[in-house]
Amino acid sequence: MDFNKYFSSKKIYTIISELAAELECEVYVVGGFVRDLILEKDKKEVDFLIVGDGINFAQKLADKLNIKTLSVYKNFGTAHFNYNNFDYEFVGARKESYKKESRNPEVEAGSFQEDIERRDFTINTLAVSLNANSFGKLIDTFDGVNDIINKVIKTPLDPIITFNDDPLRIMRAFRFASQLEFEVDNSILLAAEQLAERLKIISQERITDEFLKILSSPRPSIGLKLLYYSKVMDVVFPEVASLGGVEQRQDHHHKDVFLHTCQVVDNISQNTDDVWLRFAALVHDIAKPATKKFVEGTGWTFHGHEELGARMMKHIFNRMRMPLNKLEYIEKLIRLHLRPIALVDDDVTDSAIRRFVVTADEDLNDLITLCRADITSKNPNKVAKYLDNYNRVMNRVIEVQEKDKLRAFQSPVKGDEIMSICNLTPSKKVGEIKSAIEEAILEGEIGNNYEEAYQYLLKIKDKFLNT
Ligand code: ATP
Ligand code: MG
Repeated sequence: MDFNKYFSSKKIYTIISELAAELECEVYVVGGFVRDLILEKDKKEVDFLIVGDGINFAQKLADKLNIKTLSVYKNFGTAHFNYNNFDYEFVGARKESYKKESRNPEVEAGSFQEDIERRDFTINTLAVSLNANSFGKLIDTFDGVNDIINKVIKTPLDPIITFNDDPLRIMRAFRFASQLEFEVDNSILLAAEQLAERLKIISQERITDEFLKILSSPRPSIGLKLLYYSKVMDVVFPEVASLGGVEQRQDHHHKDVFLHTCQVVDNISQNTDDVWLRFAALVHDIAKPATKKFVEGTGWTFHGHEELGARMMKHIFNRMRMPLNKLEYIEKLIRLHLRPIALVDDDVTDSAIRRFVVTADEDLNDLITLCRADITSKNPNKVAKYLDNYNRVMNRVIEVQEKDKLRAFQSPVKGDEIMSICNLTPSKKVGEIKSAIEEAILEGEIGNNYEEAYQYLLKIKDKFLNT
């Protein structure tokens, strides 16, 4: 990587270099940006380290570039602006010491070395100078380039110290491993297990943010397994941790639900970048441990795990501070994840298919994506058969949809009209009549069109009005 060539080719770095000369301070590009340049990954954000006053530097630079909106975080000694769709972050060099009971660092001005030392991982300690006399020079204090080449996450200091100072770094270690598909050094695993409980002093939002980044990575199972085997999962997501393990009774054992789940999440991640659909895959079997029963002659059963799983979500969403507007979607996917299998038989009626389409509604495609990902058999013949089953169900769905135009289903005769024809004011009765029309359509008694619905209304209205 020719850093000199790269940073010379972009005008803003030359401007920054000139400003550094004017203000007589050292400026470096640091951290993730340098790491990702070496890895040839695209970035939308660059961090600068200023030995001196970072906020003042950012202000002067913003003036030069005619940038009006500069965000300043005095407490953290950082400043930030967006310029041509790129995020620029500025921070003054500092050393930190942490109070045991608080996650808030005590920030003090420090030297370049002190700042680099308190960074989380060797791969994030790289810095490239922008000062004229050393423009483009890489400073690699902790052999970070080697760790990038060897694809390994290590801490610059003893990981016990690094994690003890800021336990969020445990999550970050596993997040980077998952995002970059790197290994974590064994010392990190040991330290993570030893200090997992300290994550309790970190705000839930930051933990969840890292967790969702793991779930957004190309192969989330990498991060999930690191969390699980280090027992950090017990602290950050105990319900997922409980999925692990196998019980054997007589000749029956069930599959390890955690490992199955990991595979479902990896499978679905090949077909969607939507983190909430991936999350649905993670939690689709969440109630299996709670519903597990051994039935003599049958083996292990998990009756009702889809319903109980859906009901567990509200509590989990609240605890993990997840966006509540996603709750219903996740509940629905869990609740319905076994339905398509039940619709495979040829003697399933049109009305059963219709009900399924109406219930799944706009999430039908996501549900089927989940069901397909849920196939984890190692036998290719079985996989082909199961996939074909879903194809058959979806073909019937399409048939019924085309016949009925059921998407966004509602009675073709609307409430207003029901009220005027039946001479009703807004009341429960209007809703009951409307439901009766919808029910007749779902049952296939009448077609999903205005004329038949209207005739049906005339036919049933007296019965409703007289009761
Ligand atoms: P990305 O932006 O892709 O999440 P990044 O490496 O840029 O990755 P940031 O969270 O933006 O990560 O942080 C920028 C740099 O600040 C990191 O590369 C790292 O050197 C340092 N850093 C961030 N958070 C911590 C932390 N909790 N402890 C120590 N150093 C940190
Ligand atoms: Mg960054």
